[in-house]
Amino acid sequence: MIGPVCEEILLRKKEDILIPAEKIANVMDINPLSHAFLVLSKVKYSKIPVLDREEKIVGLIGLSEIVDQMFDLDAIDPDNLNDKTVADVMETNFVTVDESNTLEDLLHLAIDHAFLPVVGKDRHFVGIITRRELLKAVNRLVHDLEQENLIISKKDLSKTKIEVG
Ligand code: AMP
Repeated sequence: MIGPVCEEILLRKKEDILIPAEKIANVMDINPLSHAFLVLSKVKYSKIPVLDREEKIVGLIGLSEIVDQMFDLDAIDPDNLNDKTVADVMETNFVTVDESNTLEDLLHLAIDHAFLPVVGKDRHFVGIITRRELLKAVNRLVHDLEQENLIISKKDLSKTKIEVG
């Protein structure tokens, strides 16, 4: 469990942890793959969210899924990308988080995911939480704990135990 002191420090720059939807590159499920290829090549992120017309998150798409579609048996054909849409190849089994998730949940999930899409009501896309921002918060935590003398040394801890006992 994350205690209140650590939680307070981890959330000191709470506003940096969630990157809002309007700053996130995305594609729509109905877009042709060629469009997603262009967007992903431009933004240089390996994976981005896929939204539907109602701005709900419905998938994730990465360059590797798209490049896969360009391969024929014996050649690479970029024209293949015009025949399929993002919805045909996007990843639909992905983790999302919402306001019910604790900070501890986020830290656990970030071990396996570079970013966590955040959803509101009816899976409306709210933004993402990146492992990078969480790591920055953890970094701040370890420094601030020392600077603010919030760490009890092992020596002091054993004294406390003796006094209590
Ligand atoms: P970062 O921690 O900034 O390297 O981001 C981790 C991952 O989150 C990136 O590889 C992208 O998949 C995703 N990501 C971060 N920022 C954005 C953004 N502005 N738009 C779309 N995806 C993003």
